[in-house]
Amino acid sequence: MSNSTFDLVVIGGGPGGYVAAIRAAQLGLSVACVEKRPALGGTCLNVGCIPSKALLAASHHYHTAAHGLGAFGIAAEGVSFDLAAMMAHKDKVIADNTKGIDFLFRKNKITRFVGAGRLGGEGTVIISGAEGETTITGKAIVIATGSESTPLPGIEIDETVFVSSTGALALPAVPKRLVVIGGGVIGLELGTVWGRLGAEVTVVEFLDRILPFHDAEVSKVMQRLLGQQGMQFKLATKVVAGERIGETARLTLEPAAGGPQETLEADVVLVAIGRRPHVEGLGLDALGVERTKRGFIAVDAGYRTNIPGLYAIGDVIGGAMLAHKAEEEGVALAELLVGQHGHVNAEAIPSVVYTWPEVASVGKSEEQLKQAGIAYKAGKFPFLANGRARASNEVEGFVKILADATTDQILGAHIIGPNAGELIAELVVAIEFGAAAEDIARTCHAHPSLTEAIKEAALAVAGRAIHV
Ligand SMILES: Cc1cc2nc3c(=O)[nH]c(=O)nc-3n(C[C@H](O)[C@H](O)[C@H](O)COP(=O)(O)OP(=O)(O)OC[C@H]3O[C@@H](n4cnc5c(N)ncnc54)[C@H](O)[C@@H]3O)c2cc1C
Repeated sequence: MSNSTFDLVVIGGGPGGYVAAIRAAQLGLSVACVEKRPALGGTCLNVGCIPSKALLAASHHYHTAAHGLGAFGIAAEGVSFDLAAMMAHKDKVIADNTKGIDFLFRKNKITRFVGAGRLGGEGTVIISGAEGETTITGKAIVIATGSESTPLPGIEIDETVFVSSTGALALPAVPKRLVVIGGGVIGLELGTVWGRLGAEVTVVEFLDRILPFHDAEVSKVMQRLLGQQGMQFKLATKVVAGERIGETARLTLEPAAGGPQETLEADVVLVAIGRRPHVEGLGLDALGVERTKRGFIAVDAGYRTNIPGLYAIGDVIGGAMLAHKAEEEGVALAELLVGQHGHVNAEAIPSVVYTWPEVASVGKSEEQLKQAGIAYKAGKFPFLANGRARASNEVEGFVKILADATTDQILGAHIIGPNAGELIAELVVAIEFGAAAEDIARTCHAHPSLTEAIKEAALAVAGRAIHV
């Protein structure tokens, strides 16, 4: 048993927690970070953003080499892949990234505790590690324990036949038939990985469209393009039962609105129906920490819980469950703790789907604006009319900008197309700066570049796009 006192104790070493720790250390606070995984980086670096992008990149290169070079006059015969080598690439990327956080912790003199942290009373954290329990105290304590896959009642995750995203990132072989339950970002990205490597992928989605939190027009185009790549969809369909039969699975499906049942067989079933806050074992109830109806830790605009000195950030407080949102909250909280004015603009948090083509959005969708009764103008420009996209043979998709009908201020932007995840940054900056569509329209964009599609969409808001 040893005791240590810190200005700040962070529980959870994911993008929210480790960034809060680094920023607080930069600001002169003594900081400890408690993380139960052996490696820092949280879900994102270990079993989320980074490994999924490593496999998306690897499978994309394979798929392009095998099927996508003919249009450029390149014949590539006998292209094959080595799954173990792809996994080794992914594992190396994870290791390099997580070691990078270790380096940053040393650089910023952050004390690292390996073990599960729980609240031991106001200002106290008890850590259960390999060497028993350690109690530390913090003037401020931040819960940044993230999220975990939401289970589907009636389906037991065994990580071999019924897998979570973690299992789907480490399959030992390409399944012949992969069923993905849930047509959200994680399901589509991981379905894409295995589809490119040869799996027959069927997505079962309860709602009547995929990517339900994205602009409906984008979701529709995405479904068409993924369908062209061989992905099949069963929308407005619910999974009512799933059983393992030897090394395969049998699912019982039913229309979401009720009706006759059907069965669907698979070699692997990925359950990707969402993520829930990871709060188990933290001792929240004993301390009386308030939660929202959906179980997230309730916080105010300054990330304060109802317990003095106890804060929470990242996935565990809900909102956009994204790594960069958690990071921004980590920075904002550290700054607030030293009396600065940290703030996160929820309207300027981009969201990206790393399929092909990519989908990226920021701000409001058309549906949200309609629902809120906000009058808006939409400007749209297709990549088909963009020279750089044509040169790269990546002409699917469009840029859509939504601006206030009266003030012309940009309220939302939606891109489906090549490099959408990078292109969206310009529109995030525009929203953060309160820019009007006219501001983008009058800004010179390099030619030929995909960014010209953004300028043209901004011009289209005022009905004066040049190239359509
Ligand atoms: C497959 C997948 C792909 C994703 N892709 C993207 C993407 O491309 N872009 C994106 O922005 N987001 C993506 N996400 C979401 C992203 O990973 C999360 O939003 C992000 O990791 C949240 O950060 P966090 O710090 O709040 O929590 P986490 O990253 O979940 O970190 C929380 C950490 O707390 C630790 N912990 C929990 N309880 C305790 C305890 N009691 N004591 C000590 N430690 C504890 C956990 O071990 C974990 O390491 C993806 C998620 C998944 C699953």
